[in-house]
Amino acid sequence: MMVITSPGEMTRYSSDALQRGERIGLVPTMGCLHEGHLVLMREGRRRSAVLVASIFVNPTQFGPGEDFARYPRNFERDCAMLQTVPVDVVFAPEPSAMYSPDAQTFVDVGEITSGLCGPHRPGHFRGVTTVVAKLFNIVKPHLAVFGEKDFQQLRAIQRMVRDLNFDVEIIPVPIVREKDGLAMSSRNAYLSSAEREDALALSLAIRAAREKHRAGPCCAEEIVFAATRVLNRMKGIAIEYVEAVDAETLARHPSLDRPILVAIAARVGKTRLIDNAVLQP
Ligand code: AMP
Repeated sequence: MMVITSPGEMTRYSSDALQRGERIGLVPTMGCLHEGHLVLMREGRRRSAVLVASIFVNPTQFGPGEDFARYPRNFERDCAMLQTVPVDVVFAPEPSAMYSPDAQTFVDVGEITSGLCGPHRPGHFRGVTTVVAKLFNIVKPHLAVFGEKDFQQLRAIQRMVRDLNFDVEIIPVPIVREKDGLAMSSRNAYLSSAEREDALALSLAIRAAREKHRAGPCCAEEIVFAATRVLNRMKGIAIEYVEAVDAETLARHPSLDRPILVAIAARVGKTRLIDNAVLQP
C-alpha cells in the first residue's frame, strides 16, 4: 500500500494506471476509520483494479465553531485498517496542498442542499462538493463509493456528477450500524458512555418512523411525529430537525407513492449526530 500526499503525484499515478487500462475506484473519507468505512472500501475493492482511499479532513466543509480542529485523527491506525482491505493507495494531502490561499472557484449544488442539514451548516455542502470535484480531477476514478449515512451529501454529489458531466459512477452503500442500531460514525468517539446510550434514540426514532410507514397509509407529518416522539423521550437529546422528504429530490411534502427519506439531526451533549432511512412505498 502506497501513501501519496502530493496531488501531482497522485494524478501521475492514476494516469499510469489509466494507460494500463486499469479501472480506478475512489473512496473519499476524513479518516478515523470504522467498520462503516471498511464496507465502502470492500465495495470499491470488488469493483476496481486500483483502489484509492483518500483521507482528508476538509477544512472548507466545517463552519466556524464546528469541530475541524478537534476532529479525531489517527493516521497510523487508519493505514493499518486500510491494509486489511487491501487498498492500493492512501491519498492523504495536507490542506495547503489542496487549497491555494487565493482559490476562488467552488462547486455549489442548488435546491438539494437547501433543506435538511443545509440551513444548519452554512457552506458545508459547498465545501463537500468542491473537495469531491477536486478529488475526482486529481484521482481520475471510474467509480467512487459513498455511504447513505450522509444521504444529503450522496444526493448532492450525484447531482453534481450529472449536472457537470463528471464521468464517474457513484456507488451508494447502505448505512452500517453497531449491533444495537447506532449508525457508525467517527463522531461517536466524542460520546461519553451516558451519551452513547442517549444516542441510541436516533436509530430507535428511525425505526419508529419505519414502523409507522409500514403499518399503513400515513402522511409525512405522521412519520415525523412518530420519530420525534421517540427522540423527545430522551432528555439528553436536542433535536435539530426531523423530516420526511422525497428520497430523490429531498423536496418537502413527499408523495406517498414514491420512496421517502426520513432524516434526523440531533445533538447528544455537544456531539451532532445524523441518521436516516429510505421508506419504500
Ligand atoms: P466521513 O469520513 O465521515 O467523511 O465518511 C466517509 C464516507 O463514509 C462517506 O461516504 C460516509 O457516508 C461514509 N460513512 C460513514 N459512516 C458510515 C456508515 N455508518 N455507514 C455507511 N457509510 C458510512
